[in-house]
Amino acid sequence: EETAEGGLRVGAQVRNSDLAADPRVRSRYPMLTQALLAGASGQIRNKASTSGNLLQRTRCPYFYDRNMPCNKREPGTGCAALQGFNRMHAVLGESEACIAVHPSDMAVAMAGLDARIETISPGGETRTISIGDLHRLPEATPHVETVLGHGEMIAAVTLPPPPPGQQVYRKVRDRASYAFALVSVAAIVEKSGDRIRSARIAMGGVAAKPWRATEAEHMLTG
Ligand SMILES: Cc1cc2nc3c(=O)[nH]c(=O)nc-3n(C[C@H](O)[C@H](O)[C@H](O)COP(=O)(O)OP(=O)(O)OC[C@H]3O[C@@H](n4cnc5c(N)ncnc54)[C@H](O)[C@@H]3O)c2cc1C
Ligand code: SF4
Repeated sequence: EETAEGGLRVGAQVRNSDLAADPRVRSRYPMLTQALLAGASGQIRNKASTSGNLLQRTRCPYFYDRNMPCNKREPGTGCAALQGFNRMHAVLGESEACIAVHPSDMAVAMAGLDARIETISPGGETRTISIGDLHRLPEATPHVETVLGHGEMIAAVTLPPPPPGQQVYRKVRDRASYAFALVSVAAIVEKSGDRIRSARIAMGGVAAKPWRATEAEHMLTG
């Protein structure tokens, strides 16, 4: 639904396919549509929800292999990925306890758009969390992945009015479809003549959360 400030409020259960196809998203937040359509497969997108996509678990293969040590699955057992197959793992914000990345494409575009997450707790309390604060970096407790409290649910995601500039989402992956990002970038660049007036850059596949490259943003406009 439209917000009073000129943005969009997306219900937690809105399907990825429906969000990508919404004419308002396509015209005002094109990089969100591009990111959604770069994720998973058509069948999965038809089922995947906005909240579920934000809260999906890592695709680190050792997390799913119960024969291997994994601090995220079993705290204190170690991290098999450190010395293992880790080409798809984190290069930013990692720790000695875990180098897993967050796999969502949608969340990267939402990070570039400064989305806000509305939540509701079992007692009925509501709060709003900036998308940059939703996911935690691993530090010594990689099994704690978000700042959500016990039983706290995502109710909706609010997109502020689209910022000025051209939006684009690019994803580098091993196959043209149905593959997670080796690295992805969501960028919004506003130009004035041959100068960059404002820039927003968010990266995916590089950290345990969608990564806003704030230093690069300042360098481009500074
Ligand atoms: C083979 C495969 C390939 C994929 N490739 C990609 C890809 O390239 N890019 C990409 O972005 N995604 C990819 N995905 C993920 C997919 O797009 C879905 O978004 C993801 O699986 C979440 O789906 P879901 O909505 O069914 O969430 P669920 O699996 O139902 O939920 C995920 C988690 O979120 C919790 N949750 C759900 N809703 C709420 C809520 N409202 N409040 C609190 N907690 C909640 C659930 O309890 C669960 O813990 C892939 C998935 C598969 C299986
Ligand atoms: S990177 Fe994280 S999820 Fe993967 S094995 Fe290490 S601790 Fe587990």
